[in-house]
Amino acid sequence: MEGIAKKFDIKEIREDFPVLHQEINGKPLIYFDNAATTQKPKPVIEALMGYYIGYNSNIHRGIHTLAEKATNAFEESRKAVQKFINADEAEEIIFTYGTTDSINLVAATFGRAFIGKDDEIIISAMEHHSNIVPWQMLCEQKEAKLKIIPINGKGELILEEFEKLLTNRTKLVSVAHVSNALGTINPIDRIISKAHEVGAKVLIDGAQASAHIEVDVKKLKADFYSFSAHKLFGPTGTGILYGKRKLLESIPPYRGGGEMIKEVTFEKTSYNDIPYKFEAGTPNIADVVALKTAIEYVNELGKRNIEVYEHELLQHATSLLSEIPEVKLIGTADNKTSVISFIVEGLHHLDIGMMLDAKGIAVRTGHHCAQPLMNEFGIEGTVRISLSIYNTKEEIDVFVDALKSIISKWK
Ligand code: PMP
Repeated sequence: MEGIAKKFDIKEIREDFPVLHQEINGKPLIYFDNAATTQKPKPVIEALMGYYIGYNSNIHRGIHTLAEKATNAFEESRKAVQKFINADEAEEIIFTYGTTDSINLVAATFGRAFIGKDDEIIISAMEHHSNIVPWQMLCEQKEAKLKIIPINGKGELILEEFEKLLTNRTKLVSVAHVSNALGTINPIDRIISKAHEVGAKVLIDGAQASAHIEVDVKKLKADFYSFSAHKLFGPTGTGILYGKRKLLESIPPYRGGGEMIKEVTFEKTSYNDIPYKFEAGTPNIADVVALKTAIEYVNELGKRNIEVYEHELLQHATSLLSEIPEVKLIGTADNKTSVISFIVEGLHHLDIGMMLDAKGIAVRTGHHCAQPLMNEFGIEGTVRISLSIYNTKEEIDVFVDALKSIISKWK
């Protein structure tokens, strides 16, 4: 891989994240739970404050100056998202409340309109619960069938098996770009093109991809792509659903209410154009506005630089953990982001998590909202470290030493 550009200065980056500079249980915080949510840089926090201090106002309907300012900032954020994922038009970007909400939106609208009895939806064995349960609910309602792409022992999708699952009844394929529990980067370009061959639409759950790897919906030809602002250094409670214009225009609205209508009478309501058709009610204005700043922050660092840096962290942590005989890595795909899941023989993952926390190290333990995946591996849960732009090799060394001392003391 190429080297890291000069502006990717780890010291400067760490300075941008106030929350990192604190002690937890008397030790400097090491935050390794970035797949759950990332920390927020000062410019994002300032954008939030700037909105509330300077121009808090409801959007789209007001004609006064503050309303116009808030509306412009909101719509500028939509354009920033459009560019960030290389969508054709800003109208193809719908603001939701998170990835979960985006997926539920597709299930409730596309599902309502296009999935019928005996139709088939394909997901994978490594999905987050938010990309499983909405489809189970839909299938139950519509008497449709849910099919699962199996994985191999490394935690990679078995593409040959996927191809066998595709039929002319397949209406939708919904898979993660990157697994939150394993870090596997799925070959979604191939999945999308194979699904399109049978006329199925494809929804990509990009929750774990948007902060780590390039996302180009045009190149991918994704029909829907969803992600959450809070995993991209932005605020909580805001998400994105990208959809191709024609598709969005062809599906019914999601929630009913203000903003999503053109005209309402008691006899009949006509709906607004996209994206507003899907944005009923007052949206999460402040957080959407601050998302633009988060995107600018990532753009300034450069996705390529982020990928290179995080790959170095991944390799460093993987090689150190592989040397510990009691540690078993769960998910060893060839193509991975900086997520490492593992179990330790004879020690419960929850106990390890608590003991690491006592040393100031924040990791995630449990099933990671992917219980069916844990079942595939025959385990209850793992310890997961997920690394981001502000983590360092030195932090990894401290973590590995802490883990070794826990293992030697408690085994
Ligand atoms: N999909 C994946 C792969 C995730 O990692 C997550 C969050 N852990 C979600 C979906 C749900 O995201 P949110 O909670 O932001 O709606």
